[in-house]
Amino acid sequence: MSRTPLMAGNWKMNLNHQEAVVLVQKLAWTLNDKKHDYAKAEVVVVPPFTDIRTVQTLVDGDQLSIAYGAQDVSAHESGAYTGEVSAGMLAKLGCSYVVVGHSERREYHQESDALVNAKAKAALGAGMTPIVCVGEPLPVRQEGQQVTYTLAQLDGSLAGFSAEQVGGLVVAYEPVWAIGTGEVATPDDAQEVCAAIRGRVREVHGDAAADAVRVLYGGSVKAANVGGIMAKADVDGCLVGGASLQADEFGGICRFY
Ligand code: PEP
Repeated sequence: MSRTPLMAGNWKMNLNHQEAVVLVQKLAWTLNDKKHDYAKAEVVVVPPFTDIRTVQTLVDGDQLSIAYGAQDVSAHESGAYTGEVSAGMLAKLGCSYVVVGHSERREYHQESDALVNAKAKAALGAGMTPIVCVGEPLPVRQEGQQVTYTLAQLDGSLAGFSAEQVGGLVVAYEPVWAIGTGEVATPDDAQEVCAAIRGRVREVHGDAAADAVRVLYGGSVKAANVGGIMAKADVDGCLVGGASLQADEFGGICRFY
């Protein structure tokens, strides 16, 4: 079964709303460059909360074929949760995707699988697609336990989801040691864990969900290394951090074939 490749650019805590305009305009220009065929990949930008309204205005106004999302979401619907942003608020701004369980949230904000699960449910409940991040830290990789560790995170993060919900999800395998370090996983490393993720979905939710769920790789992806990673059967796209801040580089990643 063919799955539409997805290239998502996580801007992290970079770019104010004016800088966001420049990047999205440059990216749109790059994506519309008729010399290149980008039609195969769905392109998503994931700006900080403060840029989302600006990105929405640009995307809607110029009818850009770029989707956008948020880097996090509250597990709560509304109320006395100072500093949090609800799924309903993000959906109202036209977000299609929400990243949940990024390793930086898990590490710096002690987010557990249970909280990631609740956030993913909140995103789904508001009609958005969660991009559920999983992946092992360096010591776990050094012990050769990356599959066991990552599948345990997956099980916890997707607990209680129906097969239909899982089929519509995006799971991003992001080994922590490869994020922002310049040390990219080899295509075979990426394939090993992405295949294991799809295998676990097949085991728990059946063939239809396993064949439909999109599994991304993330960790120091660049235009120069994306081709080998995307050639792997179980890698359906990439979650890109640093390289998504440069329109040419991210454009090159979207042109991976
Ligand atoms: C990320 O933040 O999800 C990420 C993969 O970052 P980078 O591409 O910079 O390694």
